Amino acid sequence: MSAEKTAAPCSVALKPLPSGVEAFTRDLERYQFYHLGRLLGSPPVYTYQALARTLRDHLMSDWMNTYVARDQPGKRRAYYLSLEFLIGRALSNHVLNLGLDEVSREALHGFGQTLENLAEEEPDAGLGNGGLGRLAACFMDSCATLNLPVMGYGIHYEYGMFRQHIENGYQIEDPDNWLRDGNPWEVERPEYTCRVPFGGHTEHYHDKAGIHRARWADTNDVLAIPYDMPISGYRNHVVNTLRLWKSAATDEFDLNEFNAGSYTEAVQEKNHAEHISMVLYPNDTSENGKELRLRQQYFLASASLQDALRQWHTAGNSDLTKFAEHNVFQMNDTHPSIAVAELMRLLLDQEGMQWDAAWAITSHCMAYTNHTLLPEALERWPVALFQRLLPRPLEIIYEINARFLREVAVKWPGDIERRRRMSIIEEGDVRQLRMAWLAIVGSFSVNGVAALHSRLLREGLFRDFVDLWPHKFNNKTNGVTPRRWMAHANPSMSALISSKIGDGWVADLPQLEKLKPLADLKNTAFHADWRAVKRANKMRLAALVKAECGVEFNPDALFDVQVKRIHEYKRQLLNVLHVIHLYNRINRGRLDGWADRCVLIGGKAAPGYVMAKRIIKLVNSVAEVVNSDPDVDGRLKVAFLPNYRVTSMEIIAPATDLSEQISTAGKEASGTGNMKFMMNGTITIGTYDGANIEILEAVGEENFFLFGLHADEVETLRPHYQPMAYVDKDPELREVIDLLRSGHFNLCESGIFDMILDTLLSPHDPWMVLADFRSYVDAQERVSQAWQDEAGWTRMSILNTASSGFFSTDRTMVEYNRDIWKLSPS
Ligand SMILES: *Cc1c(COP(=O)(O)O)cnc(C)c1O
Repeated sequence: MSAEKTAAPCSVALKPLPSGVEAFTRDLERYQFYHLGRLLGSPPVYTYQALARTLRDHLMSDWMNTYVARDQPGKRRAYYLSLEFLIGRALSNHVLNLGLDEVSREALHGFGQTLENLAEEEPDAGLGNGGLGRLAACFMDSCATLNLPVMGYGIHYEYGMFRQHIENGYQIEDPDNWLRDGNPWEVERPEYTCRVPFGGHTEHYHDKAGIHRARWADTNDVLAIPYDMPISGYRNHVVNTLRLWKSAATDEFDLNEFNAGSYTEAVQEKNHAEHISMVLYPNDTSENGKELRLRQQYFLASASLQDALRQWHTAGNSDLTKFAEHNVFQMNDTHPSIAVAELMRLLLDQEGMQWDAAWAITSHCMAYTNHTLLPEALERWPVALFQRLLPRPLEIIYEINARFLREVAVKWPGDIERRRRMSIIEEGDVRQLRMAWLAIVGSFSVNGVAALHSRLLREGLFRDFVDLWPHKFNNKTNGVTPRRWMAHANPSMSALISSKIGDGWVADLPQLEKLKPLADLKNTAFHADWRAVKRANKMRLAALVKAECGVEFNPDALFDVQVKRIHEYKRQLLNVLHVIHLYNRINRGRLDGWADRCVLIGGKAAPGYVMAKRIIKLVNSVAEVVNSDPDVDGRLKVAFLPNYRVTSMEIIAPATDLSEQISTAGKEASGTGNMKFMMNGTITIGTYDGANIEILEAVGEENFFLFGLHADEVETLRPHYQPMAYVDKDPELREVIDLLRSGHFNLCESGIFDMILDTLLSPHDPWMVLADFRSYVDAQERVSQAWQDEAGWTRMSILNTASSGFFSTDRTMVEYNRDIWKLSPS
């Protein structure tokens, strides 16, 4: 066991390094020449590494001082538990937050490099799938900026989200070896290594005081080694910590095997331990029940809780019954929800507490955020798998459930059906653990991520629990950080805004309201500047599309963009049907009121999600036909952007005119891509779903293209849904379906799109794509008309940015803190 007892950190403040150009240049040179041993003229990646190390040095005093300030006895703190942190690049973010832009530019001069060049050398930290993981990263940014004592806990995946490339129109996945050249930001802290048990069996006994105790014996332990990433606040000398756990083998051998002479086999066994943190599971909003995934979840929960308890003890706290007064754990979806049982285990078996005291603590320091209503995303684990992997936590879950069901029985005597519905154990051929139920029972707060989503949770999935514990349920509408998504991603728009209203908006986004008067049509000069910024950003995106897809986008056309994970509920198919409709209009010469468009679609499909992968193929096939048809003549361009990730969104959002947020109503919990676009002056075409509703309310109906059925209408229609009826009564839809069916887009690959046609035309299509086709096409027609009124469009664009203040994660974090965490800034 390599973890040593560590004393409370010393409280002497670490002095900052001198940060003038000269000192900074010296540091940079020392790293490049004397540490990395690379002379001028070496590949730029080495100068990137030297710069990143230099910046980390300049973060270190604030980082250590923040760490010490957080670690005082009696100080309340929060821990954000997440299997995903979709961080992207860190370099420019730290430069922005430290205010070292000018200094580093000047220092780099002597190296013949620019910040922009070097930023390109950094691989994305892609430790997440999509919205849920990116949300965790935005939360961390805002907590640091608000000086909230929040620590992130996650997994140090060796391989992050796969990289996507396209061959013959199909998605191909490549491993993301993001650590190949090392990670200059992270600090390994082996002194805080923990041991996480797996397997074995439980034993029960009575201790000297005659109290019943359990021990978990004959376990196969895995070491969890923390790697800390600095999370800098915006120009406030706060640097919080994201602690990522890497798995490693213990130094113990299987003695039997060792003594039998199988030295190499005994060493090989160690491999299994290292597998736990090897790879991020690439499923977004669906679970595939793999054993290794459960190991990851328990590994994260156990290591993080042990670490929080260790910090509690080393900070000099003594009375454990006060633990919940000073600690709160926010669980990002049910992925880490085994933490409920694990904290109980640590308090009972390690800290020697009794059940009631341990439960009083656990149920007062856990909080759970739900991210989806889709049934395929609700985590269930077979009891048998738990029994084999986690026998002691399973016993604890049984006990939690037994006591909980007693409470249900007291409130609803004889209501067996309700008890069956609410039980954490789902009975059936395969008995399963309902992780969402465990999370609700063990938490004092349960929240959804947008107003509609939280309402649908209360009225639907969580209804029984709302009847029992109405006080637990609340809403926290998501946000995104304006530092990354405006100040960093759109420097020219940021400069223009700041020239008018000052730069206070960067850390206080509602100040963007001050732009509203400038949206007025009489401000022709400001309008022209606003358009010039957008046009320059469109040139930047056009260059990316040209390089990645070989397609020429005309920056004077409408840029119509849908980027997000590929999923049927997000309805990329509806977008494609509209593209085919536009193409059909060109071919038939129906060009009245036409506006030239460039349609960009991007996103990754889960490797096992056949339909999502086929949708990618369809986009690419349609793109090829449209782009090579001489009759189209530049009126319409279509491209699929490969390998959509945080870094590509930083180019895309500032350059987009029209943001596609077209999920089936009631299915997108919140969406956050919609918010990034809005901040960057993009107008939304969207359904009445997730946070779209709140965006619509903020900006006004006249500045948003709303279409489609509402969530209640979707559910009313569902049993009677007849897609063929829409085809029969809508000739334009019929033409689109006929064109698709004719094989026009797959002349050499017959039948490949049959599965798509089949679901579109099935009365059981859960996403009811055709029900919204007419309404969508009509809304798109309104878009085209609005686009042709240049001043009117610019006005809408300015008003979208000006109304986006609510969607900063600064506001989201203030609400989490006000209602759930109750931390005071250090
Ligand atoms: C913001 C973001 C998402 C979430 O997008 P939605 O449109 O809300 O699904 C997914 N992936 C990346 C890389 C993002 O930046």
